[in-house]
Amino acid sequence: MQAKFSVYRKEPGAHSKPGRSTYTVELADDATVMDALLKIRDEQDPTLGFRGSCLHGYCGDCTVRVNGKAAFSCTARVAPLAAKGGEIAVEPIRNMPVVKDLISDWDAFLWEKIDSTKPWMEPKDADGAAEPQIDDKLMARVRQAMSCNYCGLCDEGCTVLPVDFKFVGPAALTKASRFLFDPRDQATAERLRILERPKGMWDCVHCFEASEHCPREIAPTERIVEMRDEAFKRGITNEKVARHHLSFAASVKRSGWLDEGRLAIESEGLTNVSGLMKLLPTAAKAIARGKAPIPYLHPKRPGADRIARIIEKAEAKEK
Ligand code: SF4
Repeated sequence: MQAKFSVYRKEPGAHSKPGRSTYTVELADDATVMDALLKIRDEQDPTLGFRGSCLHGYCGDCTVRVNGKAAFSCTARVAPLAAKGGEIAVEPIRNMPVVKDLISDWDAFLWEKIDSTKPWMEPKDADGAAEPQIDDKLMARVRQAMSCNYCGLCDEGCTVLPVDFKFVGPAALTKASRFLFDPRDQATAERLRILERPKGMWDCVHCFEASEHCPREIAPTERIVEMRDEAFKRGITNEKVARHHLSFAASVKRSGWLDEGRLAIESEGLTNVSGLMKLLPTAAKAIARGKAPIPYLHPKRPGADRIARIIEKAEAKEK
């Protein structure tokens, strides 16, 4: 089988301009993209930079974008791509600074972020007592997060990281959930305080792309939602997004629909004077156009009492 590749190229250094190199390669019918990259480097271009480690689709070290889709190059077969005709585009994964060619900066993308979440257990039996036996059911959801192999695909699909690279990202949050819900750990409150910092768990926008991208069905978005629920249960709601959620729910419970004035005020925080001052120009424009309902005097919509009962029922179930 003959296949033509268009490979992303970039020399190290912030000012080097990215480009592309094209290569035509003879390959076995069952060849993978990694086989092609190795052959290109061995036979045509020793300067081509890329990474790989386990070569069995486990470690994620070789993840690239192939024809616009993130894939492990060691398991992505060339034949179906070549059958479509044209060049096969190979690029670094998104949301990660490029070091050289297909080699990305995993420290900045993943490891430093994981490090920031206290990724180790603080055992309850730190005094040296024998480790207690844990009910297997309690370990089930932890085990799901434990099966993460840090391939980074959830971060690659994340819709927040392209606009804010400082967001800790779904992969690091998945690691955090692994310790947060471990029944042997005693640092839950401390972990939540770390995770509630700006750029932490509240910055996730629930687009579910992380879960769509995870090849191991760990569902990182659901893990983030669980962490937030745990924070609500413990009253750890100091971040703006947490206040936004609480205000939203309180508004709908009271009037059956959203009191936008109240939501804006409570999301900023009633004691956050500078935040509230920033709302004034928007409020003035809304008042001038007759679009500013008076916060907290929002009229109830028909059926509001029924909506309140539904919310109360859900709250009781949650408790
Ligand atoms: S949660 Fe899934 S997609 Fe994200 S790093 Fe772990 S295994 Fe990869």
